[in-house]
Amino acid sequence: MNAAYIYLQLYKLFDNTTPTKVDCGKLCDSACCKGDSESGMFLFPGEYEVYKLLEPGWAKIEKTDMTYKLDDRTYTVPILLCNGSCDRYQRPLSCRIFPLTPYLNKDNKLEIITDPRAKGICPLAKAFFKEDYDEQFLKNLNRTFNLLLKNDKFKAFMSVYSEYLDTFRKFTD
Ligand code: SF4
Ligand code: SF4
Repeated sequence: MNAAYIYLQLYKLFDNTTPTKVDCGKLCDSACCKGDSESGMFLFPGEYEVYKLLEPGWAKIEKTDMTYKLDDRTYTVPILLCNGSCDRYQRPLSCRIFPLTPYLNKDNKLEIITDPRAKGICPLAKAFFKEDYDEQFLKNLNRTFNLLLKNDKFKAFMSVYSEYLDTFRKFTD
């Protein structure tokens, strides 16, 4: 499977569909893009292939300490670091879906949740219930992650990623 092609198609679902119909960046002066040089967005399994093709000057990609295993192989999760500005059409999936994120619950089923890491910075994450988000945005999120979860490597990543989110959920739920 050509991972770059899949992600580039999925990106289109979020080119014009955003958490709300209005530009939420005006609420907070785009707080989610104002991290320091150490903060960034995880790339999902295979998404790095997109950035090998695009080679965007505004992004730096580094390895993280997060790993997951499949079939005796260990994979490292990459993170994309930016300077607070990007080509909107090249931004990674994590940025497109923020402040929501996929999560595997204890029954191993997909849930779309408010990213617990967003609660300190994002007004939507603080105030919105799921039903307050744009309906099409939620549909596209479910469509995207139901598709990606058909891949075993993605599923293996999601188990580790969901445990990672749990460490933040303890403090925010
Ligand atoms: S997602 Fe949240 S933090 Fe980012 S621009 Fe919208 S309201 Fe601001
Ligand atoms: S890649 Fe773009 S959307 Fe994502 S945090 Fe950086 S500036 Fe914001």
